[in-house]
Amino acid sequence: MNIARSIELYARASALMPGGVNSPVRAFKSVGGTPLFIAKGTGSRVYDEDGNAYIDYCMSWGPLLLGHADDDVVRAIADAARDGTSFGTPNRREVEIAELVIARFPAVDKVRFVNSGTEAVMSAIRLARGFTGRDKIVKFDGCYHGHADSMLVAAGSGLATFGTPDSAGVTEGAARDTIVVPFNDIDALRAVMDRDHGSIAAVIMEPVPCNYGLIPPRDGYLRAVRELCDRFGALLIFDEVITGLRLAPGGAQERFDVRPDITTLGKIIGGGLPVGAYGASTEIMAKVAPDGPVYQAGTLSGNPLAMAAGIATMKKIDALNAYDLLEEKGRRFDALVAPIADEYRGRALILRLGSIVCTYFTERTSIESVDQVRACDMKRFARYHAEMLRRGIYLAPSGYEVGFLATAHTDDDLADTAAAMRESLAAAFGS
Ligand SMILES: *Cc1c(COP(=O)(O)O)cnc(C)c1O
Repeated sequence: MNIARSIELYARASALMPGGVNSPVRAFKSVGGTPLFIAKGTGSRVYDEDGNAYIDYCMSWGPLLLGHADDDVVRAIADAARDGTSFGTPNRREVEIAELVIARFPAVDKVRFVNSGTEAVMSAIRLARGFTGRDKIVKFDGCYHGHADSMLVAAGSGLATFGTPDSAGVTEGAARDTIVVPFNDIDALRAVMDRDHGSIAAVIMEPVPCNYGLIPPRDGYLRAVRELCDRFGALLIFDEVITGLRLAPGGAQERFDVRPDITTLGKIIGGGLPVGAYGASTEIMAKVAPDGPVYQAGTLSGNPLAMAAGIATMKKIDALNAYDLLEEKGRRFDALVAPIADEYRGRALILRLGSIVCTYFTERTSIESVDQVRACDMKRFARYHAEMLRRGIYLAPSGYEVGFLATAHTDDDLADTAAAMRESLAAAFGS
């Protein structure tokens, strides 16, 4: 495989940007090798600067439910751009997208658009504190909520007392107000709530963690978290930046029928442009400026291009009946990989939830906790990743990342992918 242009660009990039990238995992540090510079994408494919084609399962880390450069989305962006790219005033498209989002998410009566998932989470946390008058936030080990200081916190020693900074530059003060507990362990959350409930503003979670492998919630777990929050007067924040518009039109809250108090959105909602959003009941959102005392603003928030991309994406999802289509593709994928999964049972595990897939190198036959993901063989994943890449399959460059099916993946793509998986697993296990 000739990747000379990517190698040359990466050398230049490395002299100009930390790690040569604008987001760390793109640097291929956990799989080794040179990050590919992608020149273009269409449908299920991306093409690097040397012209190599790949069937893509990273899909920009989730936003591209429809695949790359969907005609309707591109046209909507171009149409919007011709009318001007930003005004810093209210615009018609903000109203249209807000109507579409509120119609989909059962727990959202009002919504505010921002520019990233990180910003959505940061604002949701401020809102939860402003609404409850409490300071502490409970998060779950292994759940990712973007890079706001209070979310870059790891579990402290002992029984989930204070968090400790998980990044240089995060103060002890910021970490002190975040409590970290294990996911899928209701007793751990109950213990923290029993002790600290008077000071806990909110519990924030990915209802289905997708940033530390894919960890399906145990039956009844989300409902039990909801009940604890109700009992102790803490708000429940579902970070649906990945799951929203992916697991169902109304995200995990619809799929599992559990209503959070505040919902954060991102990724698919922007159709590939930088968008995030947070929403809640009318009562909670009344606290947001200019209606209320919780300040939050953005020069480019509600940007007409981004709104247009999100609107076009949601309309096309409806027109395609995308969730049924993706479930169908998912079943086809299951059928193709079932014999491979059988052959590698005890060495590799392939999980799928809707259009989210994950391959773990583990002897286990199910995954329920972050510790089980931590114990997976990430060196083996790195070999597998390189082998898949050589066979024209682009996976996210880390064993902690999931893969995404898009409506653009064809039956042939799935068959080619399964064939590549068989060969790549054999190579990764050196057989
Ligand atoms: C990607 C992600 C974020 C952060 O979104 P950015 O747009 O990268 O800032 C937050 N929460 C979850 C669950 C995510 O997957």
